[in-house]
Amino acid sequence: MRLADATWTDVRDADVDVAFVPVGSTEQHGPHAPLGTDTLDAVAVAEAGAAAYEAAGERSAAAAGEVAVAPPIPVGVAEEHRAFDGTMWVSPEAFRAYVREAAESLPHHGIDRVVFVNGHGGNVEALAEVARRFSRDEAHDGYAVAFTWFEAVGEHTGDMGHAGPLETALLRATNPRLVREDRIEAAREGAADRWGEWVSGVNLAHDSDEFTDNGVVGDPSAGDADRGEVLLDLASDALAELATAVVDRASI
Ligand SMILES: [Zn+2]
Repeated sequence: MRLADATWTDVRDADVDVAFVPVGSTEQHGPHAPLGTDTLDAVAVAEAGAAAYEAAGERSAAAAGEVAVAPPIPVGVAEEHRAFDGTMWVSPEAFRAYVREAAESLPHHGIDRVVFVNGHGGNVEALAEVARRFSRDEAHDGYAVAFTWFEAVGEHTGDMGHAGPLETALLRATNPRLVREDRIEAAREGAADRWGEWVSGVNLAHDSDEFTDNGVVGDPSAGDADRGEVLLDLASDALAELATAVVDRASI
């Protein structure tokens, strides 16, 4: 169930096991991919993960209902991309407070298990903290965890980069009209090989323009739509498995 499309009576009458809250970003993704890439990818994985969860049917007494997919949170912790036009960001403090309060409206309706479905590396740390705070809050019985799709795609994870093969592949599979195919070659040529500038395990670069001229890390031409379908399957299956564990754990 997509929460924004449902009516309040639909939600009242539904048997909701868990909510997925997609969390994205509005930030540069090279010359070929849209600013909304992280949000679009998070929504695609959340919706496919909800379908995978529901298709598996009754897995336990607790995990027998449906998923409520919340509307996405579109602006995150992305100041590292501030050199590139159109990028938007909020402070980690504002982000944590907003995401936590938004999620806390769900237990008010008995939806007390939440999985944040994240599409942006810069949000990872803040979302982990939000999930802990949400779960420790004694004002409700909620339990939350944070899932980042590109950390759950097996051997592909090592190719992540930025606006590189994985994100471009997932877009080609799910939102192909938003990929500027005529700029892929330029995106590849101007890309960096690796994220950051590392010495003794420390990244010296606070902002992405310090190591990539066009915003790209990795080769976007190495991610076709078929690879995108594989990524979507891997991420959505991992998300469905996680959601089942979250539902079973919280009902103990
Ligand atoms: Zn991204």
